[in-house]
Amino acid sequence: MPNPLLDDRDVALLVDDAFDLPALTALPYFAEHDRATFAAVLDGARRLAREELLPAYRVLDEQPPRLVDGRVVVHPLLHRLFARLRELELIAAPRPAEVGGQQLPLAVYTLATAYLMAGNASAYGYLGLTQGAAHLLEAFGDEHLRTTYMPRMYRGEWTGTMALTEPQAGSSLADVATTATPTADGHYLVRGSKIFISGGDHDLTGNVVHLALARIAGAPPGIKGVSLFCVPRLRVDGDALVDNDVAVTGMIHKIGWKALPSLALGFGERGDCRGWLVGAPHQGIRYMFQMMNEARIMVGVNGVATASVAYHEAVAYARERPQGRALAGKDPAAPPVAITAHADVRRMLLRQRAIVTGGLALLVRTARYADVAHHGADEASRTRAGLVLDLLTPIAKSFPAERGFEANALAVQIHGGYGYSSEYPVEAWLRDQKLNSIHEGTTGIQALDLLGRRAVAGGGAALAAWRDDVERTCARAEAAGVDAAWSTALRTARDATLVLTGELAARGLAGDAEAMLAHATDYLDLFSTVAVAWQWLELAAAVAERARRPGADADHAAVTRACTSYWFTTELPRVVQLAALCRSSDRSYLDLDPAWL
Ligand SMILES: Cc1cc2nc3c(=O)[nH]c(=O)nc-3n(C[C@H](O)[C@H](O)[C@H](O)COP(=O)(O)OP(=O)(O)OC[C@H]3O[C@@H](n4cnc5c(N)ncnc54)[C@H](O)[C@@H]3O)c2cc1C
Repeated sequence: MPNPLLDDRDVALLVDDAFDLPALTALPYFAEHDRATFAAVLDGARRLAREELLPAYRVLDEQPPRLVDGRVVVHPLLHRLFARLRELELIAAPRPAEVGGQQLPLAVYTLATAYLMAGNASAYGYLGLTQGAAHLLEAFGDEHLRTTYMPRMYRGEWTGTMALTEPQAGSSLADVATTATPTADGHYLVRGSKIFISGGDHDLTGNVVHLALARIAGAPPGIKGVSLFCVPRLRVDGDALVDNDVAVTGMIHKIGWKALPSLALGFGERGDCRGWLVGAPHQGIRYMFQMMNEARIMVGVNGVATASVAYHEAVAYARERPQGRALAGKDPAAPPVAITAHADVRRMLLRQRAIVTGGLALLVRTARYADVAHHGADEASRTRAGLVLDLLTPIAKSFPAERGFEANALAVQIHGGYGYSSEYPVEAWLRDQKLNSIHEGTTGIQALDLLGRRAVAGGGAALAAWRDDVERTCARAEAAGVDAAWSTALRTARDATLVLTGELAARGLAGDAEAMLAHATDYLDLFSTVAVAWQWLELAAAVAERARRPGADADHAAVTRACTSYWFTTELPRVVQLAALCRSSDRSYLDLDPAWL
């Protein structure tokens, strides 16, 4: 059977049972939708991903875009795929009808994009970046930007980028040095160098629109002096498109995501690069956070998708690969067994699945919070959902990136020596996956953001809402007859997380930020482990409820219970050790003198 990319049974469980996405259609914003329209969106994405994106993966991985006479030329096959991706009309799908969207819930969109990214992440990447960039113009741009650039981007006629990073300003965007000088004509003259800009140039569409951070002359130092600009490669001048002095100054030779070029760009090398201010001056980071938060969820989806396609490849390989004999009653004369007969191989497969489906559930739940945060029935529900969304975003980004990488490594391991060769595809997904813990804020930065800001925001209001939502899952699981030991374990881990957060926050309030944040990455690991246990309990409850109805899939229920059991037995107990580490006075990282190394 060809690689299914995602397990359709999981997707159906998430949509209908675990998170009841059709219930969202009771909200006026989503009222035009129903289960059938959700199915149509998912079917379209699934089919394209399986039938065209995945089969094209190998050739696009081996033949990345080239720099020819200062412009990027992509593989001809990508032109066809891009056209097919555009036909799905997904770029604007979650946006309002008045800007060309379909008002599709993000939770459904997330699942559709998961299929596409599992098929070919870097081919999909052009669309994801374009959506984020167009949404920035929709939210903060003036009439000129909203009418000139945004609609063409939402239709996929032009693509967009996020142009933040500079050679000296990666994690620290406060050090952005690109300048923007106002002119009497209303635009700014932009000058500076950007690096790693994904999709920064290509020949797929007629134009590329950069959403770039720059500093207006005289702006305050640091993050509060950074503004957001729309800097097209070709600017609209009457009916003409005019070269806007954006040069491709280099191409990054990446180890993965090969179909999407990452470029060094030079703005204003001839002194005529025009940029249009988006929103108010010096608010660039605040605006960009809208795109970065969306992009972080997209990165999380990618982490899951990349781990998922490799998981399915590993399952198929393991079922077919004969090697050794079963432990019980070893008989040298017997034919070899498939490696799935070995407990250690099953351990690896189960671990992959627990990471993949647990991560996917976390992403769909996070996206559902985003749907309610933006379109909930009343102010109170919107605020509450927004708090939990904010809390979960760094986890939804980092868990799939970090554990997904582990899952991808397990897929290589299951292939043995064959996995360590480019004849088999699993090595390529391992390369792709590594990016996810680096871009859109590294895991270290996500950890600082989670503990230093989001977990303690609003005096712990987000944590309080999260606590209640975990409680709801525990109650649901108990009512469904799920093993009560799991609800008890989840409550204990949740409460330990709350107590620990309070203790660490107190250190920060006492002025010792170093003691609060020294183990921020361990705290992120802890919170992620609890957050995924929460998803597994929800899924276990959902299959238990389903089992009471006719036609339930017994195999799927069994594997869901096995993953839940695995997570609660193998992963959740780590919370005790991680909490001890976070609150310990261990200074092994802090006291490490780089000179010793
Ligand atoms: C393939 C690819 C595509 C990309 N696409 C884009 C794009 O489209 N647009 C864009 O603007 N950028 C893009 N980037 C850039 C990406 O966002 C940056 O690489 C990332 O933010 C990290 O910055 P850096 O590479 O300068 O690493 P650094 O910031 O130098 O970080 C190096 C290491 O130090 C750690 N570190 C740094 N500061 C701190 C701190 N304060 N506390 C703790 N640890 C810290 C980091 O966690 C990391 O491990 C892309 C990068 C890649 C590789």
